[in-house]
Amino acid sequence: MYSDDKIFIKNLPPLSIYIHIPWCVSKCPYCDFNSHSIDPNNIDEELFLKSLRCDLEQSLSLIWNRSIISVFIGGGTPSILSVESIDKILEMIRTYLRILPNAEITIEINPGTVDSLKMKGFKDSGINRFSIGIQSFNNENLKKIGRIHDKQDALNSITKAQDLVENINLDIMFSLPGQTIKNFIYDLKTAKSFNPNHLSIYHLTIEPNTFFSKNLPDDMPDEETSSGMDDLIEIELSEMGMKRYEVSAYSKDKFQSIHNLNYWTFGDYLGIGPGAHSKISFHDKIIRQKRIYNPIIWMNKSIKMDNSHIIENICILKDQLPFEFMLNVLRLKDGVNRRLFKFRTGLSIDVMKERINIAYKNKLLSKNSEKFIATPLGWKFLNDLQMIFIK
Ligand code: SF4
Repeated sequence: MYSDDKIFIKNLPPLSIYIHIPWCVSKCPYCDFNSHSIDPNNIDEELFLKSLRCDLEQSLSLIWNRSIISVFIGGGTPSILSVESIDKILEMIRTYLRILPNAEITIEINPGTVDSLKMKGFKDSGINRFSIGIQSFNNENLKKIGRIHDKQDALNSITKAQDLVENINLDIMFSLPGQTIKNFIYDLKTAKSFNPNHLSIYHLTIEPNTFFSKNLPDDMPDEETSSGMDDLIEIELSEMGMKRYEVSAYSKDKFQSIHNLNYWTFGDYLGIGPGAHSKISFHDKIIRQKRIYNPIIWMNKSIKMDNSHIIENICILKDQLPFEFMLNVLRLKDGVNRRLFKFRTGLSIDVMKERINIAYKNKLLSKNSEKFIATPLGWKFLNDLQMIFIK
């Protein structure tokens, strides 16, 4: 039962699995992910797989008897691993967990680390969605952001992916050093020529502690050029029936990413691997976990089987739930049904009545009685809208 100090979640949300592969051939100068450059020949794949298995085994009691709607192998560069390792990871997941028959199973691909044979091997292991880190089709722009692949690698990997599976995503970035509007139009048109069903398009942001934060290239596009690029995206993509459904995600009908939608609708996920995060609901609480970031330390701790690879294991406070929920769901262009708040958090909407009124007053949240959905102004100032829900 719901009382003032407790939450009660009647039906647990859908559950996804995330597996973090922490290595890359080289570190891109803009990247703030938990990725570490390594010579692929020096990866101890056997020890890594053993550590992943230990990590999963230590987490099983948290998700006992629940079905899995999606698996996402991300990084870093997952495609740096051999086909045999990816096959073993998926076999391990299938051995311990119940994966639904129509589950989305994605691997992130760096075009500089795959050939046709490898991609076919991934597909034969059970991968049914490729997310390809294209970023740009312009060799100069790719070089400036430190990517290891070139335009031809990008074209080859898309062609091969489309031969193998129906469901692919292309990651594209804009506002790159030296990039002009004309370059970006070329990138969009080239992406469009493949008629992809999903695109993720990101503005390059300069994150602290990256190489670019200390050595900003002097040919970054100015604000006006960047916003011109941003404006072009929806115009170009709507022509081919693609709709923006989230801040950075565009898809054709029925090709929205199941895995990402689960994050944005405040679903559950178990993340295993170095630095992976988890959010797991129980009937009376919601917990968050973080694993050790450093891959070597994570491996050494995980195989000890004493949970010492987990550096944070906290219960989300009742007061934090409105913000955590709204932070995610307001990223969705079409919003979500208001009843989802009660389903996911176990709380009544009344707990955030005051904050909803502030958002109305500022014309950032729509007065739609069915949905939580940002107004056009709220969409433009999404951060401000989300911050209203911090207690
Ligand atoms: S390939 Fe991706 S994860 Fe690896 S360094 Fe570059 S941006 Fe980061």
